[in-house]
Amino acid sequence: SIGYFNGAFYPIEQIVIPIDERGHQFGDGVYEVIRIYEDAFFMLDEHIQRLFKSAKAIKLKINHSENEMKELIKEVVAKSALSNCDVYIQITRGIAPRNHLFPDAPVSVSMTVKPSKVINDSIRQKGKTAIFHEDERWANCHIKSLNLLPNILAKQAAFEAGCYEAILVKDGFVTEGTSSNVYMITDKTITTTPLSKHILAGITRIAVKEVATELGFQFVEKSFTPDELLEADEVFITSTTNEIMPIVSIDGKSIRNSDSKEQTLTVFKQFMKRVKVLQTS
Ligand code: PLP
Repeated sequence: SIGYFNGAFYPIEQIVIPIDERGHQFGDGVYEVIRIYEDAFFMLDEHIQRLFKSAKAIKLKINHSENEMKELIKEVVAKSALSNCDVYIQITRGIAPRNHLFPDAPVSVSMTVKPSKVINDSIRQKGKTAIFHEDERWANCHIKSLNLLPNILAKQAAFEAGCYEAILVKDGFVTEGTSSNVYMITDKTITTTPLSKHILAGITRIAVKEVATELGFQFVEKSFTPDELLEADEVFITSTTNEIMPIVSIDGKSIRNSDSKEQTLTVFKQFMKRVKVLQTS
């Protein structure tokens, strides 16, 4: 697979980041993950906009315009020669001797392109399990920052409990997953946590909102408790890499329609139609 670091392209395994790079030393940067289906970028503009918003929120000045960044990303992906892949983009405050203060240095831009992990139908039909976990993150989770330690610890706790995702709970309400947004379906209504500084504004979430409306679901952005989630007909999570994934149990408690997952899979099918439309446009 191919990678990019500060102006040059390399095989990923050959990229070495200087020890004084601030992503390495402080996690002083932001990132994005964008999916490419059959050579077509999925919601590229939305990802670019979020990247620039995240950068602005940490006072990081990207010395490319949004269009230049888009072209650079396309160039890296083209060089990879991969048609179904994920591009990871990381922008940090550059390379400078370790000091908390902002350095007078150009930002670093790194990217990697890797084949997408395709989730086959039988895995999606089966769905995934989750745990509830305290949301121990900071006050600015709307920023896609490199600092993911609480997310990593919660995801590992899920894994050690034999589960796939940790659903984070802050002050008695569900925020989101460690790397996903969380939804429940009850009576033809899809409910998800409202956007705020406590969650990341998922790009897949934008698509799900549109798709749900197309299908005649009510789409409600309202906070809910773990108990309310457990009482839903169906529960699912979304992310760029998981797309739409049914959750069949949380903390060992089964979700009502976890056998059929009918509505979630309907939303998924409609979502995939959008992906197919990309291929023909
Ligand atoms: N929430 C968090 C904390 C995430 O890390 C992610 C993505 O990895 C998401 C939500 C889903 O965002 P998207 O749909 O843009 O991938």
